[in-house]
Amino acid sequence: MNIILLGPPGAGKGTQAKRLEEMHGIVQLATGDMLRAAVAAGTAVGKKAKPIMDAGKLVPDDILIAMIAERIDQADCARGFILDGFPRTVPQAEALDAMLRERRLKLDHVIEMQVDEAALLERVTGRFTCSTCGASYHEIFNRPRAEGICDVCGGTSFTRRADDTAETIKARLAAYRAQTAPILPYYRSKGVLDTIDGMAPIEAVTQAIDAILRQP
Ligand code: ADP
Ligand code: ADP
Ligand code: ZN
Repeated sequence: MNIILLGPPGAGKGTQAKRLEEMHGIVQLATGDMLRAAVAAGTAVGKKAKPIMDAGKLVPDDILIAMIAERIDQADCARGFILDGFPRTVPQAEALDAMLRERRLKLDHVIEMQVDEAALLERVTGRFTCSTCGASYHEIFNRPRAEGICDVCGGTSFTRRADDTAETIKARLAAYRAQTAPILPYYRSKGVLDTIDGMAPIEAVTQAIDAILRQP
C-alpha cells in the first residue's frame, strides 16, 4: 500500500505516519527528516538545503525527486510506503507519477489533513522530537507516556527543530498555500484524494485514516 499524507506544517503528518508504520508494516518516507539528516551529516545536499529550510522555503524539486527515487528502490519499501512531506509542488507530484509508473507501482490513497492556522501555530511552536527516531511530541497535546522517554524507540534525548519558530512558520504556511495546495486538485481529478479533519485528537485522526485505508 502506497499512500501520501498531505497537509500544512504541523498538521500531524509525522505523528500519523509513525502510527501507520507500526499498524501496517509500511515505511514512512519523511523528506523533512531526510533533509535534516543531510544537514546534520554535512553532505553537499545538506549544505545547500540548510539556509533554505531555515528561511521556511522549499528546497529545489530536483534534489527532492532524486532523494525519493533512490529511497523507494530500497528493500524496506517493498510492502509499501507513506510519503510525509513529499510531493510538495506540482512538478514533484508529476515526477512521482512517472517514478511509480516506471516501477509498475500505484498510489492507493492521498489523504489531506485539514487543520486551521491558529492550531498549526500552537502545534509547531510546542513541538519537540526524539533525537533518535524523529517521533514528534508536543509540550501540551502529546507528551511521552513516561516522562523523558520516547514511546516509539525508548530514546531519552529530544530536540526542537530550528525552523519551528513563530516567524518561520508564517513563511512555511505561505509556501504551503502557494506551492503545495495546488497539488490537491491534481489528485482530486485522479480520484485518489480524501480529506479528513486533522483538528480531532490524535487517536481519532488515526481511526479516520484507517477507515480510508480499508476502502478498496
Ligand atoms: P513539516 O513536517 O513541519 O511540514 P518538514 O519536516 O516536512 O516540515 O519539512 C521541513 C523543511 O524541509 C521544509 O520547510 C522545506 O524547507 C524542506 N522540505 C521538506 N520536504 C520538502 C519537499 N518535498 N520539497 C521541498 N522542500 C522540502
Ligand atoms: P507535521 O509532520 O504535519 O509537521 P507533526 O506530526 O510533527 O506534524 O505534529 C505537529 C505537532 O502537533 C507535534 O508536536 C505533535 O505532537 C502535535 N500533534 C499532532 N497531531 C495532533 C493532534 N491531532 N492534536 C493535537 N496535537 C497534535
Ligand atoms: Zn524515538
